[in-house]
Amino acid sequence: MKKLCLILSVLFLAGCSTQETTIGKSSTKIVYNIDVTNYEDDLFHVTVFVDGLSEENNIYNMPATVPGTYDVLNFGRFVKTFKAFDKNGNELASEHISVNQWKISNTDKLAKITYDVEDTFDADITEDDVMPMGGTGIENDFIVMNTFGVLGFFEGLQSNPVELKIDYNSNWTIGTSLNVNDQGYYIAETYDRLADSPVLLGDLTVASTMVNDIKVGVYVYSADTSITADKILKIADEVLQSAGNFIGYSPVKNYNFLFCLMDMETFTRNNFHGAGALEHSYSSLYTYPARGSLSNSRRDAMAHEFMHILTPLNLHSNIIQPFNFMIPTASEHIWLYEGVTEWVSDIMQLRSKLITTDEYFERFSQKLNISDRLNQDISLTQLSREVYSDQGIMDFINFYNKGAVTAALLDIRLLELSNGTRGLREVLLELLKKYGKYKPFLENEFFEIIVNITYPEIEQFINDYIKGTKPLPFVK
Ligand SMILES: [Zn+2]
Repeated sequence: MKKLCLILSVLFLAGCSTQETTIGKSSTKIVYNIDVTNYEDDLFHVTVFVDGLSEENNIYNMPATVPGTYDVLNFGRFVKTFKAFDKNGNELASEHISVNQWKISNTDKLAKITYDVEDTFDADITEDDVMPMGGTGIENDFIVMNTFGVLGFFEGLQSNPVELKIDYNSNWTIGTSLNVNDQGYYIAETYDRLADSPVLLGDLTVASTMVNDIKVGVYVYSADTSITADKILKIADEVLQSAGNFIGYSPVKNYNFLFCLMDMETFTRNNFHGAGALEHSYSSLYTYPARGSLSNSRRDAMAHEFMHILTPLNLHSNIIQPFNFMIPTASEHIWLYEGVTEWVSDIMQLRSKLITTDEYFERFSQKLNISDRLNQDISLTQLSREVYSDQGIMDFINFYNKGAVTAALLDIRLLELSNGTRGLREVLLELLKKYGKYKPFLENEFFEIIVNITYPEIEQFINDYIKGTKPLPFVK
C-alpha cells in the first residue's frame, strides 16, 4: 500500500498480500448479489445465496483485517440489518456475536442472508480509521468498492468458489480484475481471490497497453474530466515498460490500475486522513485528489504497486498465506514485501535510464533523512512483528525508507560477493521461480534460505541490518 499520510506530511506507505484458505465443502458455491442501483440511501444492499450448509458453517464473518493494510479495520462495524432466511422466506434466528461475526441458527435450512453495508468514506467512526484506498465509498458519480468491505465468508468456506452479481447504474463503466461468466456473474475460485479484487464504478475513461505479455488496463474516474486514462497511461507507460524489463517475464496475464481521483471537497467532506494506493494480485486501487494526478509521484506510486506482483504477491511467507482475515497476524518479512519493492521501483527506473544516478542517490538521501527522524532502536524484523501496534503504525513508513536503503545495500553486498554477476534482482527472480503465488516460504526459514542460495557472509548482513539495529554502512 502507499498512503499519503497527511498527519506525518510525508509519503507514508503500507504493505500487502493474499491467498487461498481453510477447509470447507468444495461443492458449496456462494453467490453474492450487491445492489447499488439506487444508491441515494448510501448503502450496499447485499444478498448471499447458499445451499447445503451445515452446523460448522453457522458463522458469517466480515474481515477484521485485510492483506496489504496492516491495520485493524473491523468491517463488521459497517453492516446493518443482518437477516437470515430459509428457502420459503421464513426468517431464521441470527445473533451478532462479535463485531465481525453473525451466528445463524438452523444453518442446514439456510437459503440466503441479507444485509446492508454503510460505506466507510462517510461512516461515523471515531477509531480504527479506514483509509479510502482500503475502504468503500458511495458518492453521486462514482462508487469505490473494496469487496472485502462489503462481503464476508461463512466459517469453513473461505476456500469455496464464489460468484458475484453487481446491479448498478447501467450508464456506468465497471473496472475490476475479476473475470465475468456468460451470465454476467463475476467469478472467483475463493473468497481470498474475491477479496483481492477491488471494483470501481462510475463514468470512467479506459486505456490499455501491454507490458511483456501482461495486458495492462487503466480505469479512471476523475472529478477533473481533463485527467483521462490515456493521459495517466502516457505518463506511466515508460515506467511500466521499465518494470517489464526488470522482471523479464510475465508473472500475471492481466493487471488493472483503478484510479479514483476526487475533488478536494470530497476529501474534506469525508474527513480523509490520507490518500494513497493499495496493491492486489491483479490490480491496484488509487484514491487521490484529482489535482496533481499527472505528476511523477503518481508514476512512482504506480511503479511501486505494480512491482508488488513480485513480492509479496508471488513471494511471501506461510504467515500470510492462507490469509487470516479474522485475527491480525504479522509476518516478520515486511522488509522484503515493502522495502525490497520500494528499492525495485527505484532501481528499475535507474536501469532503464528514466532517472539518473544522481537522482537515484537523491532519492536515497531523502529516504535516509526520513529514516533518521524515526526510531533507530527497532530492527526491521521487530517492526514487522509489531506492525499492528500503535508504534508499528507510526514507524511503518521506515520500510519505504530504511527498508529500501537496506535492500539497496544488500544488492551492493551481493554484487560485491559475486564479482558483479548476481545482485538482489537475480536472487529475487530465483526465489520467485522457486516459490510463486501458491507456494509460500516458511516464515522462520526464509533468512536461512537466502543465505543458502547466496553466500555465508549474507548471514552477517541480515543479523546486522535486518534482524539487528546496527547503523547502515554508508557515508553521507
Ligand atoms: Zn507497497
